[in-house]
Amino acid sequence: KKNRDIPVEHYINGIKKADRVVLAQAITLVESNAKHHFEKAQQIIEALLQKKSKSIRIGITGVPGAGKSTFIDSFGTFLCEQGNRVAVLAVDPSSQVSKGSIMGDKTRMERLSRHPNAYIRPSPSGGNLGGVNRKTRETMILCEAAGYNIILVETMGVGQGEFVVRDMVDFFLLLVLTGAGDELQTMKKGIMELPDLVVVNKADGDNKEKATHAKREYNTILHYLKSYTEGWITKAVTASAKEEEGISEVWDIIHSFQEYTKKNHLFYEKRAEQQRNWLHDLLKQELYRYFYNHAEIKEQLIKTERTVISGEKSVASSALDLLNLFMEKKI
Ligand code: GDP
Repeated sequence: KKNRDIPVEHYINGIKKADRVVLAQAITLVESNAKHHFEKAQQIIEALLQKKSKSIRIGITGVPGAGKSTFIDSFGTFLCEQGNRVAVLAVDPSSQVSKGSIMGDKTRMERLSRHPNAYIRPSPSGGNLGGVNRKTRETMILCEAAGYNIILVETMGVGQGEFVVRDMVDFFLLLVLTGAGDELQTMKKGIMELPDLVVVNKADGDNKEKATHAKREYNTILHYLKSYTEGWITKAVTASAKEEEGISEVWDIIHSFQEYTKKNHLFYEKRAEQQRNWLHDLLKQELYRYFYNHAEIKEQLIKTERTVISGEKSVASSALDLLNLFMEKKI
């Protein structure tokens, strides 16, 4: 009830001043499923949209146990120490309310969460992939408006999440372990074609040699795959998130990626393509929802199903009739 009375200017000005409490409140509006929150959130976002964002959005994925949170803790802290402002978001389409809040718990990235230049937001809980997708993209916009210049998006759980995140980031990093063969078996098909960099993590202690071997195996595999970003050669490197080795090298690679793609404009072209894709995804989703939730359509659909099953009418003309009925009702 109280939130209703807070004017949008409060959020807009607070975010512009990089007020973390206000940023968190605005993200809560974005994540809400209530209609009046949605409208307010859209007003805030529209006021904060940037023509040319100076941020870089980095997606990080890998099987559970690969060391994602340890890596983000080390990598994020490294970036903050260099004067960057880092926001960490998570995408977990499989999460239920409770699981989401445990998985997204700040204690997973203890060092980073204490850094004044870092902002960590747990995964929005509940909802379908489409909902999580919108919430994460809009949260990204708010974080950038608050001055976070590096956005790390972690994918949790396994499934379609990787593909959704690939389409909202500039650079995609796949964290793997030793034993490329075994791991590739458990990885979803097509995942190896998404990353701009493969990092073989846990290259420390007794595991160092195995990691170097895995790196070579991955480089061989990558050699035969088409890279996601045209003209960019996706490589595999080793790192240890725990010992903080290879972390600055990862950043160097991301930096040269950024230079390369900005020089040939691919960076901006990809972002434009992502905006377009997002628009069309939303339109399809909403059209689908409107159609199937329309009371008269629902009623007519049951009858139509019967007529096509019994062979009274062709499927194609029945579908067209239903669409015509829908358009008459809507416009
Ligand atoms: P996530 O499930 O991908 O987020 O993986 P976590 O970051 O939770 O790491 C899983 C386990 O691997 C934890 O016990 C970490 O301490 C350990 N771990 C992560 N990175 C490294 C590393 O670079 N070296 C070693 N030896 N262990 C690591």
